[in-house]
Amino acid sequence: TEAIRVKGLSYSYPDGTPALEDIDLTINEGEKIVIIGPNGAGKTTFFLHLNGTLKSQDDRILIKGKDINDMDNTERIHKVGIVFQDPDDQLFMPTIFDDVAFGPINMGLPEDQVKERVKKALSKVALEGFEERVPHNLSYGQKKRVALAAVLSMEPDILILDEPTANLDPKSRSDFIKVINKLNREGITTMIAMHDVNALPDLADRVYVLNKRIIAEGSPMEIFSDW
Ligand code: ADP
Ligand code: ADP
Repeated sequence: TEAIRVKGLSYSYPDGTPALEDIDLTINEGEKIVIIGPNGAGKTTFFLHLNGTLKSQDDRILIKGKDINDMDNTERIHKVGIVFQDPDDQLFMPTIFDDVAFGPINMGLPEDQVKERVKKALSKVALEGFEERVPHNLSYGQKKRVALAAVLSMEPDILILDEPTANLDPKSRSDFIKVINKLNREGITTMIAMHDVNALPDLADRVYVLNKRIIAEGSPMEIFSDW
């Protein structure tokens, strides 16, 4: 079944800058997709459509068969979790517990379930017991994992990550890739935007190359052979 289906999505900014042109893509449940594209290719613009910041015409973006325009915030956040590039944009509470609990509290879950969700999310990113730590004092790689945990605590079906390996040292990068791959093996559909083609084979079953339009689609092998 289809996790995400995009049909003929185009978008230009109010000043006339074209950002997306007639995008068609389909991501099946459980797949691991990478979207490769240079700066300015439209990756962020695409994600802003998936988190409701930018509105498309009806029937352009379907999440598990349902038009994204027919979903309220709570439903959309429960289906699609987005981890943006800079964790400092996502972590704004005094403790890690508060950051990771923010989504579940907003979903109206009772306190014991909130605690359970936070514990589970932190264990998935290998930060067990970090609840009372202060985000500000963590390393960049740890902050990235907290930002991921804050999305996982909402238990989304689809996980989207913008440049997850950017600015990480090699060890943190490989740790983070392991976390993502484990989540995918456990059943979460993953869509990753990046321009670091070195990490491609580890992170993608299938690749879309984006430059405002989709200019290629295939397995990492296929994409590399005519790169
Ligand atoms: P990427 O995330 O792949 O770097 P973006 O989605 O940020 O690409 O940008 C796609 C295009 O839209 C670029 O040409 C960019 O300059 C332009 N753009 C992005 N944000 C705005 C904005 N707020 N106003 C006008 N143009 C924008
Ligand atoms: P990314 O690192 O995801 O590619 P960018 O560096 O392209 O993001 O953009 C950073 C911010 O600047 C974004 O909020 C984007 O919307 C905005 N932006 C990018 N290009 C333009 C533009 N031509 N005009 C106005 N805002 C822009």
